[in-house]
Amino acid sequence: MSDSFGELEAASLFCPRCKQANPVRKALLLVLPDGKKYDYACSVCGTQVGGKTDSDSSEFHRIASASRKAPPASRQSGS
Ligand SMILES: [Zn+2]
Repeated sequence: MSDSFGELEAASLFCPRCKQANPVRKALLLVLPDGKKYDYACSVCGTQVGGKTDSDSSEFHRIASASRKAPPASRQSGS
């Protein structure tokens, strides 16, 4: 039993401006500690028609660790 289609991608969403369902463009908006925030925009007029946040935090931790290339020397407390 294949489990590779666990996440359903939104191929088209209803656009209130076009008054019909149109293909959407998915854009990565934010990388949050608890997941990535995506934005769906109508590919015809560009109106934002939806968004979603996945629960994949691996990207955040990858970026967070990459931006911390030179960690400050851990301060030793106490003498
Ligand atoms: Zn539209």
